[in-house]
Amino acid sequence: MRVAPSVYFYPFSSPVENNCNTIVLDGPEKVLIDPGHKHLWPALAARLEEDGLSPRDISLVIHTHCHPDHMEAGEILEFDYGAVQAMSGTEAEFLAGPGREFFPWMGLDYPRGSIGRLLEPGPLDLGDKVIDLHLTPGHSPGSLCLHWPEAGVLITGDVVFAGSIGRMDFKGGDPKALAASLASLAALEKVDLLLPGHGPSVVGPERIKANFQQAFRFFW
Ligand SMILES: [Zn+2]
Repeated sequence: MRVAPSVYFYPFSSPVENNCNTIVLDGPEKVLIDPGHKHLWPALAARLEEDGLSPRDISLVIHTHCHPDHMEAGEILEFDYGAVQAMSGTEAEFLAGPGREFFPWMGLDYPRGSIGRLLEPGPLDLGDKVIDLHLTPGHSPGSLCLHWPEAGVLITGDVVFAGSIGRMDFKGGDPKALAASLASLAALEKVDLLLPGHGPSVVGPERIKANFQQAFRFFW
């Protein structure tokens, strides 16, 4: 569903339809963020088509982090549609190292595709819009959050959710780093819509502010 001009949000709907939330940024360069599990891709692709988005037009797949429930289907977009998979350099290093263990742990094969583009914090020019990439470790060492100030949209992966925060007990998790990441996100201006990696969105600056205040309570 379209939640802002050029922004489509596919929140979890049922265990047979999708798992993590997926976001699509429409424009000359179409970006899909967090494709989710492979076996759920056909259902997600159908939802995109319903919105008039062709999966074939996706040129860039950004993984907020390397956990299999977010990135496993990335290889389908690479192999079937020629999309480039991207994540932060820090996260790609983690995926190639200790992060690879998440796949056998979940009974899954290690991804056959490749991370064709390493993203560093800072502006990402998509032609008609510039997205600010923020490195936000704590749930995973190289987690990226995407902020599009013009649209007031913040995409947070598993760093912060509506009423909760990302787990810090997985391999690569770090409570101190997560607290610092939350503080940096809470300080951002121009955030009217927070789209997390799981669960519902948080709508409106006041609710988003309150959501961050609640998030900090997990560290008291
Ligand atoms: Zn995760």
